[in-house]
Amino acid sequence: MSILHTAIVKFLNIFLFFMALIQINAQQTVPETIREEAEIALSHYPELKDTPIVFKIIKNIKKSTMRAQPKVNTLFKSKKKRAYVILISEKIKISEKVFYTKDVPKDIMIGWLGHELGHVIDYSKRSSLNLVWFGLKYYFSGSYIKEAERAADTYAVTHGMHDYILQTKRFILENADIDEKYKERIRRYYLSPDEIMEIVKEYEASKQTE
Ligand SMILES: [Zn+2]
Repeated sequence: MSILHTAIVKFLNIFLFFMALIQINAQQTVPETIREEAEIALSHYPELKDTPIVFKIIKNIKKSTMRAQPKVNTLFKSKKKRAYVILISEKIKISEKVFYTKDVPKDIMIGWLGHELGHVIDYSKRSSLNLVWFGLKYYFSGSYIKEAERAADTYAVTHGMHDYILQTKRFILENADIDEKYKERIRRYYLSPDEIMEIVKEYEASKQTE
């Protein structure tokens, strides 16, 4: 075996270790590096237990750090058979300094994944046609991005994840290393910490009157 060959094999082994997908249950897989975080986030969404979801770390995502989407080949199947992918950027390039996803504090990652699972809940209630339409509108309309991001945050809050969501938001907004442009995007489209507290209050009140 040549030296080069050995080096390649070594590299592949290390690479595969980090990218190793762990089967959480029959339907869901997650990279080893964020397994615990994904399990905790998923535990807040028992209704997604049988929903096929693959968490995947990729090199780069345009303009964001994570994205939830239906798997295209299952898009026109019945709602129940639809599968989803949650893409996670390997690097968080929202700042001058490069954060690696694996170095993000645990609770922040849980909050982030909780938000993405909020999108999955939102998608799971939509018809296939509605989802295609949704994708187009999301791409072209700022007000639509706002609506979708707020829906995801709201689902996360009503699934008992408000502490995590708040921490994630503060991590971004109060982090001097994070690019002002990205913060501006978060302020414009997502719920603010105050609005999250409002939703928590409303949600608690509605639970009491049930
Ligand atoms: Zn989102």
